[in-house]
Amino acid sequence: MDEFTLIERFFHRPPRRPQTRLGVGDDCALLQIPADRVLAVTMDTLVAGVHFFPDVDPEALGHKALTVNLSDLAAVGAEPVWGFLALTLPRVEADWLDRFARGLFGLAERYRVDLAGGDTTCGPLTITLQTSGWVPENQALKRSGARPGDGIYLSGWLGDAGLGLKMLQGEVPWRDPDAVARLLRPEPRVELGLALRGLAHACIDVSDGLAADLHHVLHASGVGATIEWEALPLSPSMQRYLREGGDWRLPLQAGEDYELCFTMPPCRETDLERRLPSDRVAWHRIGTIEKRDGLRIKRGDKVTALPAVGYRHF
Ligand code: ADP
Ligand code: MG
Repeated sequence: MDEFTLIERFFHRPPRRPQTRLGVGDDCALLQIPADRVLAVTMDTLVAGVHFFPDVDPEALGHKALTVNLSDLAAVGAEPVWGFLALTLPRVEADWLDRFARGLFGLAERYRVDLAGGDTTCGPLTITLQTSGWVPENQALKRSGARPGDGIYLSGWLGDAGLGLKMLQGEVPWRDPDAVARLLRPEPRVELGLALRGLAHACIDVSDGLAADLHHVLHASGVGATIEWEALPLSPSMQRYLREGGDWRLPLQAGEDYELCFTMPPCRETDLERRLPSDRVAWHRIGTIEKRDGLRIKRGDKVTALPAVGYRHF
């Protein structure tokens, strides 16, 4: 199968959005951006053996490649619109591509993301996806808006993807399919990102671990924070892991949760609940933004510094 047949067979789908004037098949895509919006653009690369097990289920991989992108768009409050896929493959395997495309388009169709182009090359298995979306001017959420007195909030369970990884690596001798699914098939918090427009002062998606990512918010905003151990949303599996002597830093330092961490005045909690009932996406207050810089954690009566340790690429 040559490159053009491959693209036509697996990645050429009719665009859903009228703003996609020209999609896959020409030298460039032609895209129309509404006059009252700004474009949010992000890109992420997944490398076999680094970001995923080479024999991982290709459908889950297609889903995850898009999730890690949509998670960034959610973190700025953007509505996802377009995707561009750069695919490097060691060989052409129709069954693998079919399943990968199923995972990718399954999620893309849910959010009406048009795959509008890409690039296909031969080499070690690597997936780069660029996505873009739009957000009304001045409503984009940034890392830099946190203010003293803001509550700090987190969606979902903390650290379950990292716990799932430990299970797959055999470092935890039991398995919880939910934790493993949080690693292999995470859901992007698109609806939450949209609901946070005009409510949150700052937002980030947790990809490298809460401690590391919250430090980015504090640094960008010129503030500090204290989080409360007892308030952290720990799943029953995480609680079991800790009860059995697991490392208490895991939930704070494990990456790949793709949950949103945001700050807002606590008086806006009811507005957020009204916009997005928490039985759809759970979120919890885990701490407070403070004037004094640095990140601290309170366990019982003891307050200690929490270093910015998390996943590092190099
Ligand atoms: P060019 O040689 O002009 O760069 P290509 O032959 O690389 O064009 O690609 C042909 C068309 O297919 C382009 O519209 C490109 O955006 C699209 N395309 C290539 N690879 C992919 C892919 N993996 N997924 C989606 N679209 C792709
Ligand atoms: Mg060309």
